[in-house]
Amino acid sequence: MNKKKLSLTAKISIALVLGVLAGLALQGHASIAVTYIKPLGTVYLNLIKMVVVPVVLLSIMQGIVSLQDVRKVGSIGVKTVAFYLCTTALAVTLGLFFANILNVGGGYVIATEGLSYEAKEAPSFITTLVNIFPSNFFQPLVDANMLQVIVIALLFGFGIILAGEKGKAAQEVVDSFAEVSFKVMGMIIQLSAIGVFALICPVVAENGPAVLLPLLKVILVAYVAYICHMVAVYSMAVRSFAGMSPITFFKGMSRPIIFAFSSASSVGTLPFNMEATQKLGARKSIASFVLPLGATINMDGTAIYQGVCAIFIAQIFGIDLNLSQQISIILTATLASIGTAGVPGSGMIMLTMVLQSVGLPVEGIALVAGIDRILDMGRTVVNITGDAACTIVVDAWEKKREAKKH
Ligand code: ASP
Repeated sequence: MNKKKLSLTAKISIALVLGVLAGLALQGHASIAVTYIKPLGTVYLNLIKMVVVPVVLLSIMQGIVSLQDVRKVGSIGVKTVAFYLCTTALAVTLGLFFANILNVGGGYVIATEGLSYEAKEAPSFITTLVNIFPSNFFQPLVDANMLQVIVIALLFGFGIILAGEKGKAAQEVVDSFAEVSFKVMGMIIQLSAIGVFALICPVVAENGPAVLLPLLKVILVAYVAYICHMVAVYSMAVRSFAGMSPITFFKGMSRPIIFAFSSASSVGTLPFNMEATQKLGARKSIASFVLPLGATINMDGTAIYQGVCAIFIAQIFGIDLNLSQQISIILTATLASIGTAGVPGSGMIMLTMVLQSVGLPVEGIALVAGIDRILDMGRTVVNITGDAACTIVVDAWEKKREAKKH
């Protein structure tokens, strides 16, 4: 492992602790943290958001082109999406299970009058599907509409393969710009320690332990579900489908996990995840297709969080959810997590869609908004570990398929 990068991870962990301490010290003077420290965090986040589109677009195209065969991409794509959907549905189910048996919202009296949260109208299921297909090449890139960006990447990636000899120049351009985007991402990542410090400090200064305590149970239940999902589902997946020891897997994943925890961004963690999965034996061509796709559509941690919060809000408002409503939560949370962007805080926005699907009051989001960052750090870890587990598994399946052919 290279020394410089190890020290970056250490720097980020130290920055996280210092950010919390500085936040505690600045309690009562939260405006200082908000005025002078938060802007640095915003700059860091803006830079990550800026680089998301080129990184996802070019790395998926590069992944497809390097596979050189439309049918092969299809076979990998189907396996990847199937793995992502099944694990996400399992994740929400687990979140609902723990929220119900641990009675996440029970025993609390929280004033629910006067809560307000501006919810956007959630589009219908059909509209959501139709909206995946762009009518313009540039608009999705400008709006960072990631599902549309993926469609463009897929179509143009296929186009390059089908163009054969004439597509070679385009392939080189994609390869070259993909490398350039990764380098840009690398530069931004060097700023992570400052970014992480500046993001966590105002959150702690503004909210403080007083707001956090009554919501401790939500945090606890969500983290129990996060950990169970990682240990049970991902360990089983890598062991039974790829013959890899879970210990090797989690050891190899330590750097991306620490980075995801401190940055709360799946997309920001992509370069670390690329490196870690390749060290664990996955091929670059598979990783560069499966991982960016996962960082955009596969959010198991977000799905768990949405399940837990839905039950919490229902219980606080004294609403009983029956089995069919809980099944609707599984479906909508799976879809909502696909639509969640891999940047901090976006899972909370998509929670609206889940609550509305079963008629729960969206004002309830205001209850969990104060602790969102803490929940976000854990869910991002689950999100990126799920992407890595899928990469290892799909790579193993492909190796088996290739071995059979020869
Ligand atoms: N922060 C999460 C991620 O980047 C998304 C979320 O807010 O749930 O993976």
